[in-house]
Amino acid sequence: MKYDVVIIGSGLGGLQCGHILSKNGMNVCVLERSAVLGGCIQSFKRKGQLFDTGFHYVGGLDEGQPLNRLFSYMGLMNLPWKKMDPLFDEVRINDKSFFFAQGHDEFIKCLADEFPHQREELKRYTEFLKQVGIHIFDSFKPKEATDFYGSSLFSLSAKNFIEETISDPLLRQVLTGCSLKMELHENLPLYTFAQINNSFIQSAWRLDSGGSSVADTLAESIRNNGGEVRTKAEVTELIEEDGKITKVVVNGEEIIETDWVISNAHPTVTIALVKNSDVIRKVFRRRMDNMKNSFGMFTANIKLKPNTIPHLNRNQYIYKNADQWNYTPGKTDRVLVSYYNNANHDGYAEQLDLLTPMLWEEVEEWANKPIGKRGEDYVAMKNIKTQQCIDLASSVIGDLADSVETYYTSTPISYMTYTNTINGTAYGIRKDYTNTMMTILSARTPVKNLLLTGENLNLHGILGVSMTSCMTCAEIIGMEKMLEELNL
Ligand SMILES: Cc1cc2nc3c(=O)[nH]c(=O)nc-3n(C[C@H](O)[C@H](O)[C@H](O)COP(=O)(O)OP(=O)(O)OC[C@H]3O[C@@H](n4cnc5c(N)ncnc54)[C@H](O)[C@@H]3O)c2cc1C
Repeated sequence: MKYDVVIIGSGLGGLQCGHILSKNGMNVCVLERSAVLGGCIQSFKRKGQLFDTGFHYVGGLDEGQPLNRLFSYMGLMNLPWKKMDPLFDEVRINDKSFFFAQGHDEFIKCLADEFPHQREELKRYTEFLKQVGIHIFDSFKPKEATDFYGSSLFSLSAKNFIEETISDPLLRQVLTGCSLKMELHENLPLYTFAQINNSFIQSAWRLDSGGSSVADTLAESIRNNGGEVRTKAEVTELIEEDGKITKVVVNGEEIIETDWVISNAHPTVTIALVKNSDVIRKVFRRRMDNMKNSFGMFTANIKLKPNTIPHLNRNQYIYKNADQWNYTPGKTDRVLVSYYNNANHDGYAEQLDLLTPMLWEEVEEWANKPIGKRGEDYVAMKNIKTQQCIDLASSVIGDLADSVETYYTSTPISYMTYTNTINGTAYGIRKDYTNTMMTILSARTPVKNLLLTGENLNLHGILGVSMTSCMTCAEIIGMEKMLEELNL
């Protein structure tokens, strides 16, 4: 069988590329190694209860906002999106709560009420974020690519920006307090910080049907357009002939011919699949092998006893004596509490997730053991971590420990197992403002018909991956066509 495009991986990026290209008349085949579609956005069911993995909320989904434009084009706006409360994020720092409001003016007002002496600084901060958001599609248009609010922000420091714009140390902590959705580190580019935070200030949304419904919708559209989406189909080698990938090896035996390959797998994994190459130099392979990745996440998906914990349509980010810009392995000093859709509408939560960073070094000793056979010490470690997260969350939401009916946990090993990501990284390659040449990747590789897509290239998260999918597809259908289709 020969395809126009083979896509490695059915994460959000792979499926979106499949959707765009099949819609443009190309014969597409998406190959997913796992039994379930979606990569990080897959949901799972236990005892009838739906839990999410890497999908809790998205930003910028209101009419006219960037994710709405992208999701309308991709046929994803008919899913049951639910707007979060006007105060969508609560940041709790050492026993005091601060709130993030949807809408730039409301955002300023809400925090200026707490920090009246910082009103002008908050205005400057928020206006800057807003401009970064307004210019989000500039990167699609070469003429504007040098625009101040565009790609050049990758080479500025997020931390410096906050320190230079905001003088009150507590307000600085508050403004970075919703940032467990990225890894705060000294070299974080300003673009990453500003674009992601701005999208949620624009508007914040949850999805009632779980992240898997995004994956299923995209897969259905690919099939309707005549494409194929296969699970349990691991790409084990890419065969290069005359500087192009001509054949894709699946599960070590099946051979598929193709004109193009798009890889949604981690770039390090992708390049290793091209075992013999005339065009990939050793220095490029070394660069891929030495990429640093963001931290991983520990998650406890908790099923609650009935009528115990009130349902909240906002997230809670809770910190206790934490240095937000540095995570100390083993220390549970920060937790994100994310509530699910309350199907009973009785005012009580049925389930919630607790998330906290976890490094590979914290779990590495169990990495080579198979699922379910990692030993009692691994189970004990996860139970202790869960208890620590519960204790931290209880300081804000009451006695959570007594309200837990059951829970399921995941660590960076789970992510490595289910999504084949290096060291179970949550947000992919760690972007570094001092080294953009090496850490911000383009879709192109040295092999001219092998393209990359997904969270590792530019910006992670649902918005970032969706932007990157369009950029990757533009390499095949042309940017003019892409802009026309997005109505830009
Ligand atoms: C705990 C957590 C919470 C998050 N919460 C949010 C949130 O609330 N909002 C938000 O915007 N973002 C969130 N994110 C980030 C977001 O989920 C990711 O950025 C995004 O889903 C990544 O998509 P992707 O397409 O780049 O890659 P992935 O989802 O990693 O998909 C890659 C796919 O490729 C497959 N694959 C790999 N190798 C092969 C191979 N050889 N053959 C075949 N298939 C292969 C994998 O199995 C996988 O399915 C969260 C992430 C995590 C980890």
